[in-house]
Amino acid sequence: MALNLVVLGPPGAGKGTQAERLARGRSIPKVSTGDILRDAVDAGTEIGRRVKSVMSRGELVSDEVVTAIVRERLDRPDARRGFVLDGFPRTVAQAEALDSMLEGRGPLLVIHVHVPETELVRRLGARLICANCGTNARMPPSAIGGEQSEARCERCGGPLVQRSDDQQAVVLERLKVYHRQTEPLIEYYRGRPTFREIDGAQPPDLVADALAEAVERARKGATAAEGVRQ
Ligand code: AMP
Repeated sequence: MALNLVVLGPPGAGKGTQAERLARGRSIPKVSTGDILRDAVDAGTEIGRRVKSVMSRGELVSDEVVTAIVRERLDRPDARRGFVLDGFPRTVAQAEALDSMLEGRGPLLVIHVHVPETELVRRLGARLICANCGTNARMPPSAIGGEQSEARCERCGGPLVQRSDDQQAVVLERLKVYHRQTEPLIEYYRGRPTFREIDGAQPPDLVADALAEAVERARKGATAAEGVRQ
């Protein structure tokens, strides 16, 4: 059975890192709309030029643009065995579009990663990203609030920089946008047998274990619901 997975949660919940780990372990693609949009901005494509200022303010890009990006990506052959979505859906309209894209492609599992707000603000203020390969890293505590870190990426040796939308005013805006536009998705999915929640405030290895376990439980939920329908 294909593993069609959405990792849902606020900015700073560790979704990207966890989605990446899980997708690599299962040899399926991780599809991050934030990464795709940042690449488009860096490459100066037409979409990149259109979304740049919206992203830098911490607001959401239009449903039409992101939905078209995801539809095209999930149609590629490597996503037929499954995928891990990170950062999509972010609105109920996107979730509805995703449901219709997946008709006939097996169940959609949704895992909500829960992290308290104070921890999110702390994490986002200390997050760095590799300017080369996009890998997330943490700022050494001594550098928080000070000069840019001189640390290099563990994976490729590239320079680590702060994402422009991780600056404090933008972080607060992104959290506000999350509460207003994305949190309603938890209720959209909660009643499904394929929805699970995990505690994202633990160390990353424990979150990874909790995620893997939640995926198995959600899969069992899908199988049981299928049995009832037959
Ligand atoms: P992320 O890396 O997921 O935090 O995304 C960074 C930024 O990209 C967001 O603050 C939005 O401006 C934009 N973005 C990413 N995914 C979506 C989405 N599904 N819907 C709308 N905007 C998005």
